[in-house]
Amino acid sequence: MNTRTRWVIGNWKMNGSLPSNASLLEAIATRVAGDSRVAVCVPFPYLTQCQRMLGASQIMYGSQDVSAQRSGAFTGQVSAGMLREFGATITLVGHSERRLYNAETSAQVADKAAAAIASGLVAVICVGETLSEREAGRAEQTVASQLEPCVDVISRFVGNVVIAYEPVWAIGTGKTASPAEAQGMHAFIRGKLTEINASARDLSILYGGSVKASNAAELFAQPDIDGGLIGGASLVAEEFLGIVSAA
Ligand code: PEP
Repeated sequence: MNTRTRWVIGNWKMNGSLPSNASLLEAIATRVAGDSRVAVCVPFPYLTQCQRMLGASQIMYGSQDVSAQRSGAFTGQVSAGMLREFGATITLVGHSERRLYNAETSAQVADKAAAAIASGLVAVICVGETLSEREAGRAEQTVASQLEPCVDVISRFVGNVVIAYEPVWAIGTGKTASPAEAQGMHAFIRGKLTEINASARDLSILYGGSVKASNAAELFAQPDIDGGLIGGASLVAEEFLGIVSAA
């Protein structure tokens, strides 16, 4: 896969129902066009619905988490191989809500990314600082420490990794990082990736945190922002399509 591509990825979180998904998928499936890669990351049970409804479209779909294990006694977990059986091609790993509510460590996130990629998925590695970390002047240090355990997987599988920078204080709060703030962190992340190798420098780095159709263009115009990871606005067809157009 080429690196430094434009992406718009929807994260439905734990939202949806068969009827509401059907309307949303129907509305976006036929209207997404252009060169950007567009994907939706949905709750596991809805993968079959995506397989049925998005099969003929250019929209990719996948999950919001994946097990680091291939199979076995891991109750409640879902392997990357299982996701592939349902046509998934992408998964988020290390979303801040999983780090917070499931105490996921950055080392576990790296293992999940490696397992996902080994089964042929694109792994979207999510990083981002909390408000207190930013206020304490530790935003870059936090993001660097989240990336550090992923260096090996990034260097080996650069074509199957996307990075999403999502400041925790901007997720679901309506408070977006300013384009300059977001660009500052994206440039920092690209600097870190450059230290890994020349190919990693060209990874797509997406911004996430209260992106809407009305603010997407300005964010995506920044030199190191390659698109967005979209939560709330990915549940509203017109908003999501507006963000895709901005990309
Ligand atoms: C997210 O969940 O990844 C996210 C960015 O959410 P929101 O767009 O709602 O802030």
